[in-house]
Amino acid sequence: MNGIKTSPFWSTGIDQLKAYVPGEQPQTDGWVKLNTNECPYPPSLRALQAIRDGVNEKLRLYPDPNGTALKGAIATHFGLGADQVFLGNGSDEVLGHAFMGLLKHALPILYPDISYSFYPVWCGLYGIDYTQVPLTAGFEVDVADYKVPNGGIVLPNPNAPTGIALPLSQLRELLEHNRGSVVIIDEAYVDFGAESAVKLIPDFENLLVVHTLSKSRALAGLRVGYALGHPVLIEALARVKDSFNSYPLDRLALAGAQVAIEDNTYFEKITQAVIHSRDWLTTELARLGFETLPSSANFIFTRHPLHSAAGLLARLRDKKILVRYFAKPRIDDHLRISIGTQPECEALVAALQHILPLHNATNPEASV
Ligand SMILES: *Cc1c(COP(=O)(O)O)cnc(C)c1O
Repeated sequence: MNGIKTSPFWSTGIDQLKAYVPGEQPQTDGWVKLNTNECPYPPSLRALQAIRDGVNEKLRLYPDPNGTALKGAIATHFGLGADQVFLGNGSDEVLGHAFMGLLKHALPILYPDISYSFYPVWCGLYGIDYTQVPLTAGFEVDVADYKVPNGGIVLPNPNAPTGIALPLSQLRELLEHNRGSVVIIDEAYVDFGAESAVKLIPDFENLLVVHTLSKSRALAGLRVGYALGHPVLIEALARVKDSFNSYPLDRLALAGAQVAIEDNTYFEKITQAVIHSRDWLTTELARLGFETLPSSANFIFTRHPLHSAAGLLARLRDKKILVRYFAKPRIDDHLRISIGTQPECEALVAALQHILPLHNATNPEASV
């Protein structure tokens, strides 16, 4: 965005849209990039080869509008039917279609007050009424707070940016109390230590589980996400998609994603490496006085009682380390730090060891 606020050329309401602001993607090299929860490891080599093999004369043809082969691979992976899978251009698109196709009702939808900041954006775009349900003082979701009439529920599990996961027993309780509305579980980070709700799909017609290849499959640049659920929910998403863009996944994305889903050995290896570094980083930060929430994701949410988060972010940026900060009530004293490679995590700790003693705790914005 460039500061332009309105124009008579714009359709009604465009000047009122509050768009999502993604984390910084630096245009120069040499950064330790711990700000957008990408995977620090490369994608599966087999997936990269499949993408290269797809660069051929067939690119003159449209891709399969239904992504039949990829849907089949995902269905097989989860033991579901192909009619229980919906594909999209990143899970953001899948979620956007789900908001439009499943969440616009008379009653407001519910999601946590501290959660993925794209949810209010889709509500604004589609005119969906919402109520933000406060997390507990410990930043946890209490499912009892979701036992009120609603037009649908959206819950990331693990939650973002806290990283805290709900156990399956509590998701089941949530679903049992909300059989009359759609419950969307956004499992962008589930592979880093949480229990997936996919196994509840046979029991709940109202459950939609959304996954992405951007985090645990190291393919944020390919833009592939998918939803799993009862065919009655999938049909609504398909109708929205085919009213918007029949070919959201290009040939290269379809080819690469299929192999990435099949290459489980590599997937296990990189998710385990991230979990290992996350636990190491949490311990090291504790030694420096940081208080970190228990994370089941590929990032941590942490605060230092003596140093402002905004100040630390600026000092780290000076050292070419990018982390994320949200200037929002309740969480503006926290930093969200994506888990990098082990050497990147070590570089972060070394930088903080240097910064903290110099950082003016009483006037944290002061430069050091
Ligand atoms: C990263 C993320 C997504 C979206 O990922 P895509 O890259 O669009 O697939 C969705 N939900 C949450 C909570 C995320 O953090």
